[in-house]
Amino acid sequence: MLERYHAILEGREKARYLESKENGNFYELIEKAWDLFSRCGLCEHRCNVNRHRQHGICGVKQASIASHFMHYGEESFLIPSYTIFFSGCNFKCVYCQNWDISQGQSGLYIEPERMAKYINEAYQRGAKNINWVGGEPTPNIPYILEILKNSDTNIPQIWNSNMYLSKEAMDLLNGFIDLYLADFKYGNDGCALRLSKVRNYTSIVKRNHKIAYENGMLVIRHLILPSHVECCSKPIIEWIAENVPDAIVNIMDQYYPTYKAYEYDELNRRITVQEYKEVLHYAKELGIHVVE
Ligand code: SF4
Repeated sequence: MLERYHAILEGREKARYLESKENGNFYELIEKAWDLFSRCGLCEHRCNVNRHRQHGICGVKQASIASHFMHYGEESFLIPSYTIFFSGCNFKCVYCQNWDISQGQSGLYIEPERMAKYINEAYQRGAKNINWVGGEPTPNIPYILEILKNSDTNIPQIWNSNMYLSKEAMDLLNGFIDLYLADFKYGNDGCALRLSKVRNYTSIVKRNHKIAYENGMLVIRHLILPSHVECCSKPIIEWIAENVPDAIVNIMDQYYPTYKAYEYDELNRRITVQEYKEVLHYAKELGIHVVE
């Protein structure tokens, strides 16, 4: 699954955005991205607002960067990862562990030319990838493309996201993303609506995971929520085994109650060792490629 990633790092292959530049598709991507931005349909909320003038559910107009730095907390094969955190998010997760940046517009607009320089400097300092995250990167796709327009650094681009993008936005990613670091949070739409305030979660996110699997390298992250093993963790694992069997899966145990989690009885604790073991065992039993 990660062969191409290593080939880019070793300079044997080109990052996808450089390929797109060579075959001329890149500039078409930028045009399409700004078009989607002007009647926003970048994610499946499809707010249809002109983002030059107003924001939609995500609260984002112009891109706002909360921080950017060399990150050592990602999966071992991804570090050091030059991680760019955007403010704002199209999800309203009541337990968000980054709520201070996801649920506001803190941060700064940084000129794309300057960000392109930071990317090159990070590469020179040993970064293995550029990790677009938030909040959520989806509302900022046109801005990210403007940065990459100014860059010629051969470094893999990672899409670190809740995967609630529209189909059109997924098509855009296919032109510049090498590796998808994709959250899979819920096994049913009821939990998604109750805890993240999003509709039709499962059909959208499953569609996008399949697209990512076909188009690039897919690493799925699943954060186990307390008391959500049967309704969420297990159905997700079953779906992965059946539909994207070669994906690498990180089953995460680091949930802790924060933000509004205290208002939800079952979320008001960490997960138990038993819950973690149960999910891990189930994943291994179904032949999932688990990274620990
Ligand atoms: S990115 Fe999604 S939530 Fe934000 S304005 Fe566009 S469609 Fe709405």
